[in-house]
Amino acid sequence: MKITFFSTQPYDKEFFTQYNDSFGFELDFFEMQLNTHTANLISNTDAVCVFVNDRVDADVINILAQKKVKVIALRCAGFNNVNLEIAKTMNIKVCRVPAYSPQAVAEHAVAMILTLNRKTHKAYNRVREQNFSLNGLLGFDLYGKTVGVIGTGNIGQVFCKIMLGFGCKVLAFDIIANKELEAAGVSFLPLLELLKQSDIISLHCPLNDQTRHIINSDTILQMKKGVMLINTSRGGLIDTKAVIAALKMKYISNLGIDVYEQEEHLFFRDLSETIIEDDTIQRLTSFPNVLVTAHQAFFTEEALTQITLTTLGSVQELLSSNNLKNRFALLI
Ligand code: NAD
Repeated sequence: MKITFFSTQPYDKEFFTQYNDSFGFELDFFEMQLNTHTANLISNTDAVCVFVNDRVDADVINILAQKKVKVIALRCAGFNNVNLEIAKTMNIKVCRVPAYSPQAVAEHAVAMILTLNRKTHKAYNRVREQNFSLNGLLGFDLYGKTVGVIGTGNIGQVFCKIMLGFGCKVLAFDIIANKELEAAGVSFLPLLELLKQSDIISLHCPLNDQTRHIINSDTILQMKKGVMLINTSRGGLIDTKAVIAALKMKYISNLGIDVYEQEEHLFFRDLSETIIEDDTIQRLTSFPNVLVTAHQAFFTEEALTQITLTTLGSVQELLSSNNLKNRFALLI
């Protein structure tokens, strides 16, 4: 049984090869993203394994169906890049890794807050150049601040608990309130109330038709002036142009993003010798109060191990029984 991988990075190859011993799949690794051109390169494969920026749209799924691919395995949690309806019509199973290490992503969101607040990235560079001045490094205590969390699923709830540990007041918005979090002291409020009261807002909901541009010029106007905004979920949750305008007006005091609307053209490659055409990312990285990381929140040893084992296990189960025991992993 063969799995063909797209958007392969050296660490994917390392982890999947290492853990494949007990599964015995034939593994074929392509570095390029999956699209209508690269889908044609597939031959005699049972499953394709894709990541966050592979576009698995109707045209690609049609080619996969012609090539008799039986499974599309996402080695990530989000699945906004796959047309599930077409996959269902074509009788192709789609699975994902619903929860590999919610701690990895939640801890990265906290790292972004601490970096932006205490400016450790700037202090590191200053001290290396014998600049021991503190001017410009003033931060604030997290203790006692109000943190708003949008989406309290696997990652959001871990993030809430960490922020409670800092002594923050934690507010949350989700379509389903989480009783365990409420018992721990998190208050579930309507979105507008959360926006009005929060000093820091962190996004942990999926990208879908309801959440696309949930942060836009209207919702930004509801926020406290000087709010810190963190997005480790999906770039499309934020209307980037509206956020840039709010940064210029000092409405948003700090922005931390691990995801970006147009990241598929940039992230996961070294473009240091390239002229970047995307003026929006160039504008974002020119702000002193914006921290951009290139979709690395998931990137821990524990998360990669779990992603690998779950993906290989799901493909094996789907190819042998056409079903998955873990209903959260099976999308179609
Ligand atoms: P999850 O499914 O466990 O939780 C998502 C939560 O969002 C759920 O509680 C759901 O009810 C809520 N939600 C859905 N629609 C909503 C809406 N319209 N308004 C408010 N809340 C809504 O997912 P998760 O594992 O916590 O992951 C969250 C997101 O994080 C994923 O969808 C993915 O996009 C992103 N992610 C990013 C990285 C990274 O490396 N940066 C890694 C993993 C996941």
